[in-house]
Amino acid sequence: MTISPEREAALLASVPTGLLIDGEWRDASDGGTFDVHDPATGKVIATLASATSEDAKAALDAADAAQADWARTPARVRSDILRRAFELINERAEDFALLMTLEMGKPLAEARGEVAYGNEFLRWFSEEAVRDYGRYLTTPEGKNKILVQNKPVGPCLLITPWNFPLAMATRKVGPAVAAGCTMVLKPAKLTPLTSQLFAAVMLEAGLPAGVLNVVSGNSASAISGPIMKDRRLRKVSFTGSTPVGRQLLKDAADNVLRTSMELGGNAPFIVFEDADLDKAVEGAMAAKMRNMGEACTAANRFLVQDTIAEEFTRKFAEAMGRLKPGRGTEDSSTVGPLIDGGARDDVHQLVSAAVSAGAEAVCGGEPIDGDGYFYAPTVLGNVPNDAAILNEEIFGPVAPVTTFETEEQAIRLANASEYGLASYLFTQDYARMFRVAEQIEFGMVGFNAGVISNAAAPFGGVKQSGLGREGGAEGIAEYSTVQYIGIADPYAE
Ligand code: NAP
Repeated sequence: MTISPEREAALLASVPTGLLIDGEWRDASDGGTFDVHDPATGKVIATLASATSEDAKAALDAADAAQADWARTPARVRSDILRRAFELINERAEDFALLMTLEMGKPLAEARGEVAYGNEFLRWFSEEAVRDYGRYLTTPEGKNKILVQNKPVGPCLLITPWNFPLAMATRKVGPAVAAGCTMVLKPAKLTPLTSQLFAAVMLEAGLPAGVLNVVSGNSASAISGPIMKDRRLRKVSFTGSTPVGRQLLKDAADNVLRTSMELGGNAPFIVFEDADLDKAVEGAMAAKMRNMGEACTAANRFLVQDTIAEEFTRKFAEAMGRLKPGRGTEDSSTVGPLIDGGARDDVHQLVSAAVSAGAEAVCGGEPIDGDGYFYAPTVLGNVPNDAAILNEEIFGPVAPVTTFETEEQAIRLANASEYGLASYLFTQDYARMFRVAEQIEFGMVGFNAGVISNAAAPFGGVKQSGLGREGGAEGIAEYSTVQYIGIADPYAE
């Protein structure tokens, strides 16, 4: 059922508009605000307080003041808060989904999928919180003892992007809460509303004041700068573009901060001639079109064995042609708009350059006229191997297809990127799966699967795609520091 304007207005009116500092929603210290837009219409949908550097410092003050008590809070209590938040989000799943559709543009069905996926991090880390094991052993010399325990890292700065407004926040807040860290969360200014509602739910679930502080605003560096320079901060966890990640790593060096960096991707989607072609097309649609292609895991380069390239490209273009662009709140919509006009221009520039270099637009290839920032789902055939579109993160609904002849060549082409986040491999040959997976330089490999993100799996990349892992057993370790206690021989006289 298409959503009514009254329902949209009522939901938007329920979202807190202030900064969350020390458990209270406050105005900005200078009274400043910023607007949030619906990318399907370009209209303003909310106005929020815009944090100043002073507000950012107040948020860190609150996180620092709460840290000692929070670290001593029993793991079971922290676990129960996460579990309660998981249940509250389930109860309000439709609100979270609609809010993401309104501020980010993804169709409601996809937004519902993100609520399920993002919320799972709260459940997963509620379970991990009470299983944060240390170890006890005797030294190899057989006398002294070694005791190893995990402790929370301390106050963290969490910076999230606009493309998955709930999941990127829960993927950081979940493990930080589980490990006993306090936080300052800085959401992307294009999509801050979901984080506001999420923070309200965390308070309702019983999170003490000061443990989670949320500061959105017009200037990311005015917020993060003073926090990064402050020696009370112990960690920065960032998800976003590689250039900003690099800058934050340089800034982090000054205070020797722990860092987790989830950066850009350029995922190869490799299809061998022995693949089930229909399954490969289905996987290609999921890997390319989830979030309108605006995902770090989005398939960015389709490497298809030359013997099946024509058939794959035709079937893929037919499936892309069946998609229905439209505002995400409409029942018929299966593809939303891009996040803003600049993003759409960037996508079109990459497509135009590829076509000028000899690629063929098998379908799409143009922006869609009218309100919002829509781009036609596009398949490009015969893309030359040196085209810019194969080297840059497209972040849009565009699939460039190129070919290879041998397994060795496919591996070489896949690795010819500075990024190493997600990759996809379609073949029915399990031995080939192991061979290729071992040789490709990517943090994640989807084998006959177009979607691989899961709270129970370690998400992350190598090379210019970043450092550290989110989710899985590895996720909580990013927020823990190891302490070793050396114990003298208890049998010594
Ligand atoms: P972005 O421009 O790097 O922004 C990400 C976040 O960093 C936003 O909160 C942004 O704030 C903030 N930021 C920007 N400049 C900053 C600075 N100088 N200092 C501190 N913070 C700063 O990236 P985006 O366009 O939002 O997101 C798209 C990128 O994220 C893509 O490259 C994508 O691949 C990557 N991504 C990676 C993963 C992963 O897990 N590896 C997941 C999702 C997305 P403002 O919004 O206020 O500018």
